[in-house]
Amino acid sequence: MILSLGNASEKVIEKVRQNLLSRGLENTLVKCAKTTLVVITSDADNLPGHIFSQMDGVKKVVRLSNRSPLGKDLAQTIVTLSPASSSSKLVQIGGGLPPVVISGPCAIEGREQIVELAHAVKAAGAVALRGGAYKPRTSAYDFQGLGLDGLKYMKEAGLQAGLPVVSEVVSIEQIEPSSPYLDVFQVGARNMYNYELLKELGRQRKPVLLKRGMSATIDELLQAAEYILLEGNLQVILCERGIRTFENRTRNTLDLSAVAVIKSLTSLPVLVDPSHAVGKREFIAPMSRAAIACGADGLIIESHCTPDKSVSDAAQAIEPSTLAAIIKDTNTIYAALNPSPVVNTSGKELAETITEGPAAGLTDGLTEGPNQGPNDGLTESIATGAIQVAKPSARSLAGAPGS
Ligand code: PEP
Ligand code: MN
Repeated sequence: MILSLGNASEKVIEKVRQNLLSRGLENTLVKCAKTTLVVITSDADNLPGHIFSQMDGVKKVVRLSNRSPLGKDLAQTIVTLSPASSSSKLVQIGGGLPPVVISGPCAIEGREQIVELAHAVKAAGAVALRGGAYKPRTSAYDFQGLGLDGLKYMKEAGLQAGLPVVSEVVSIEQIEPSSPYLDVFQVGARNMYNYELLKELGRQRKPVLLKRGMSATIDELLQAAEYILLEGNLQVILCERGIRTFENRTRNTLDLSAVAVIKSLTSLPVLVDPSHAVGKREFIAPMSRAAIACGADGLIIESHCTPDKSVSDAAQAIEPSTLAAIIKDTNTIYAALNPSPVVNTSGKELAETITEGPAAGLTDGLTEGPNQGPNDGLTESIATGAIQVAKPSARSLAGAPGS
């Protein structure tokens, strides 16, 4: 349940929150551009609405039949990666902008490997460099990654090639030391359900690329994203990377219907990872084309200068020349489907782009979306960076997670 308090004073807000706490209802404060929301994280579904509507300062009460309200209307439609250097172009993902391609090795294997590949993927048209330093391998006997040293090599490579860098963290302890060396935190499929990790990433001020768990439903993915959003980090990118099915000709089954469905349910950008989905290099190109045709905001693809020599996931690694052909195709497909594309620019024009995006023109305060059930969603127009989240006092003191 969410209470909208309009522009209530700090005193009124605190009184509402104390009132809720006295009833055992934990809550989180979300400060948007024009209103303050109190998100009740405890189960309040069976309590009558008048208890809340009669509280001094409460303008509107919204019951959520939807468990992922923030991703739908509060999240930024366009996620911006910090440029590798002041001379690099801004990388923006989502909001109908042309698709982006992120590429790099499954694992960072050494300085030379990542530097050479960074230049190659940049030349192929990729806008960011990926590479695993903390590898969540299925077998404990496989290469586990170079850790922080690997991240340092990749940051150096990214700086040289002018590419922001994306890498996975698998534990809360890795976040702080890794942060100076990466531009996007990746949460891997195996960690999508690691809610404490998600919450901590929600407290960071860097974009998070959240991959769908291999057996996760779409709703579970969206609800996992909510853990990051609720902590105040609205820069979340979702990623479909294939799910486990009975099919064994491919490593996983690429669920492209998830792209269309997720886009109907949230404003967050969606990437597709064809590499982990199919696991075989000959199928990366057709699946990449299909992903862009069905509306993905971009791709994350594993590549290597000598694919067969990759220390991990060699079977799915593609050469930079194949990557270049894929990127060319994705641009052709996007252009064919979007004759007047949204132009990815900067400064004032970017602001205009954002206001023309899917989240644009939304009314202030809370409203029921046109295609939703009663009180199903939140509608709030926000400006970039105009949201802050305050921790609920009782929750942090007690250390108890919300329901
Ligand atoms: C990866 O991207 O390196 C990775 C391990 O992918 P996933 O978490 O999707 O298996
Ligand atoms: Mn891999």
